[in-house]
Amino acid sequence: MAKEELECSFCGRKKPETNLLIAGLDAHICDRCIEQAHGIVLEESRQSDNSDLSAELVLRKPQKIKIFLDEYIIGQETTKKIMSVAVYNHYKRLLQTPTDDDIEIQKSNIVMVGQTGTGKTLIAKTIAKMLNVPLAIVDATVLTEAGYVGEDVESILTRLLQAADYNLDKAQKGIVFIDEIDKIARKSDNPSITRDVSGEGVQQALLKLLEGTVVNVPPKGGRKHPDQKFIEVNTENILFIAGGAFDGIEKIISKRLNMQAVGYSASKSEEVIDQENMLQYIIPKDLKDFGLIPEIIGRLPVLTHMNPLDDKTLRAILTEPKNAIIKQYKKLFEMDEIAFSITDGALDFIVEKAVEYKLGARGLRSLCEEILTDAMFEMPGGDEKELKVTKAYAEDKLSKTTLKKLKAVS
Ligand code: ADP
Repeated sequence: MAKEELECSFCGRKKPETNLLIAGLDAHICDRCIEQAHGIVLEESRQSDNSDLSAELVLRKPQKIKIFLDEYIIGQETTKKIMSVAVYNHYKRLLQTPTDDDIEIQKSNIVMVGQTGTGKTLIAKTIAKMLNVPLAIVDATVLTEAGYVGEDVESILTRLLQAADYNLDKAQKGIVFIDEIDKIARKSDNPSITRDVSGEGVQQALLKLLEGTVVNVPPKGGRKHPDQKFIEVNTENILFIAGGAFDGIEKIISKRLNMQAVGYSASKSEEVIDQENMLQYIIPKDLKDFGLIPEIIGRLPVLTHMNPLDDKTLRAILTEPKNAIIKQYKKLFEMDEIAFSITDGALDFIVEKAVEYKLGARGLRSLCEEILTDAMFEMPGGDEKELKVTKAYAEDKLSKTTLKKLKAVS
């Protein structure tokens, strides 16, 4: 082909009409067509980025989910199993392709009942990490009915949007952990409260969110006002996990169990009730008696409990999880080329103090911090390249005053 006859195989422009004509095997393409094609490629990949989020969401089978949770959370076997199934079903529902059999799988929102510091938040965080979905952790105590001082329930979704870097699609598949759900229980036995601003009203406002609805969310948070732009968030596929200590619910459970026992034959009531851990017997009705409205309970269909942490569990929490506290300190010291080790005696001592002063799992970290602060201050940059923490060392660093102080803040 003579040079002047060359043309773009896509748009037909002759070579002189183009700025650049690139030759392929049997064809040519001009600069304009390259630009256009590039635009199409970008647009396509942007669209598939948004629509194909399911590819990013890593869904494992329930047994695999449990194995993942085991790496981070010590004990709490029942809860880990129940959560694995609930999470699996929730995301299976989300990834399902529409069929014509009219069977609609309901959401499996979860409520976890357990003392503070037993790992509720940790489980929610671990699940979000495993699934690679955004997580918003919100405190139910700051929520109030619209129009009152405090935050509207929509603020929950603002947090989720922020956690998803404002990627709406991601946010709509995310997880919301609502902590202290027990604090919005109905306070009906207090007659002085004429309007239950922070209790039942908030539960009512939460209902729709839990069930699945489209909400206008102020992207930057704060109160809704007329000239603010909103983002429409559909909560249909958002997994809600609620957690709370439900202080005093043991009494409700034990009352129910005792009443039940009356009507049963001897063989049935012979089953020994474990008084130390009443939460394991919890049923949805107990939540209702505590003050959650039935509709909320209905929208949190998966109910599970956290066991109190005994010495053995606390001891394991110090060293066993993938990012166990002791492993973290070891790494911190290693970064300064300091070989860190801690004896079993010292570890037992830390657990003993955590139990004695009722500091729970959170206390473990504070205790370690108190014991190691001097070393972390003095050793970097020094000549000493080895730190061995013994029981005597730990005892020496932990005075009675620091223990009292820790107790006060916990
Ligand atoms: P909760 O939400 O129940 O108040 P968290 O999940 O915030 O408690 O737990 C506080 C800290 O205690 C966690 O960051 C974690 O280090 C530790 N922890 C508590 N329970 C466990 C557990 N079962 N396994 C491992 N670590 C735990």
